[in-house]
Amino acid sequence: MNDRLLPVVEEFYSVQGEGFHTGKPAYFIRLGGCDIGCSWCDTRYSWNAELHPLKDISEIIDNTLDSGTDSVVVTGGEPLMWNLDLLCNELKKQGIMTFLETSGAYTLSGKWNWICLSPKAHNPPVREIYKLADELKIIVQASADFEWAEKNRSFVNKECHCYLQPEWSHYHKIIPEIVEYVKREKGWKISLQAHKFMEIP
Ligand code: SF4
Repeated sequence: MNDRLLPVVEEFYSVQGEGFHTGKPAYFIRLGGCDIGCSWCDTRYSWNAELHPLKDISEIIDNTLDSGTDSVVVTGGEPLMWNLDLLCNELKKQGIMTFLETSGAYTLSGKWNWICLSPKAHNPPVREIYKLADELKIIVQASADFEWAEKNRSFVNKECHCYLQPEWSHYHKIIPEIVEYVKREKGWKISLQAHKFMEIP
């Protein structure tokens, strides 16, 4: 595909609901395409990239600037299925900070101010991305996920912020276990999907 064209599922100005930057306003660009297949996925509508219109990067940049923001979150789907070098270059030329949300299953492209890595056990990250992650976010829906969390934590840098995030549909069942876990195992923090509590996109 022409790297100037990206399949955009939706783009909107909202507030980051997860992880280190929770509460920070940003322009969200959700790209289509994902073959990771998480059972709990709440953006299944993004999986088939062919269902979403290809937009030229210049249009995405214009929409971003119209929002008045200084920060963009590129998410998906799995955004690294596409080459994001041009998009990041253009955003940076405009003084926009770039934040990435990825499973890490594909090779990294683009220049990022912040990389949030959310590995999925059934399609794990490429090894190189662990050392580049600013934030590690593990989705927890059952006790077995703590072992997966520790395995991933062993690969990231010491400076990486490590979060356990309850899977939304298992929230009430799993949150007590997560609370006890972070009290016991130092270095973890809890991430909640604050945007869902606030009922914003
Ligand atoms: Fe959904 Fe993200 Fe998993 Fe893809 S990686 S299936 S978009 S939760």
